[in-house]
Amino acid sequence: MEVTTVGELLHWRYASLAMAHAAVTANAQEYGRVHYMIRSRLYTGPRKQTMHVGALADDERLKMVLPQACCYCGSRERLAADHLISRKRGGKNAGDNLVWACRACNSSKGAYDALEWLKGRDQFPPLLLLRRYLKFAIEMCEERLLTDTPLAEAPELPFVLSAIPRAIPPCDLQLWVMDLSYSP
Ligand SMILES: [Zn+2]
Repeated sequence: MEVTTVGELLHWRYASLAMAHAAVTANAQEYGRVHYMIRSRLYTGPRKQTMHVGALADDERLKMVLPQACCYCGSRERLAADHLISRKRGGKNAGDNLVWACRACNSSKGAYDALEWLKGRDQFPPLLLLRRYLKFAIEMCEERLLTDTPLAEAPELPFVLSAIPRAIPPCDLQLWVMDLSYSP
């Protein structure tokens, strides 16, 4: 898939994520026809405005049922709120941009973008964390009217386009940093 604009890139990544999510939920080790159909629908739907990218509120509900733990390593010790999209880069200071991070991850991450930092550690982001990040990226890109901006002309943004994983392998993916069936 050749993407040329900021909007195409973000929507294609979002659709690829939805495909991966469906495969993981079904315990599929490789992508099949049904998964490619999901990707295609999730890409063309929002682009043609016949569908919307899921609301951040859905992820907020999930936050309430997840055990309180660092979203990067799963630790339950010395937690503090961390901005998923860095405040220094222009991320908003609102509840849906807040995630839990342990002190060790928080100080190692510093002012780095979350995805960039995970990439540097060779750690693939949990799918639900990536989904929240992408929803923010799509929202910010719409607010700034950058959807149709060619990638080469994209200005500095609060999120890092190059840190959004290009390919999502169907196996060994995690929905969250810990098993979601985990209970304290
Ligand atoms: Zn941590």
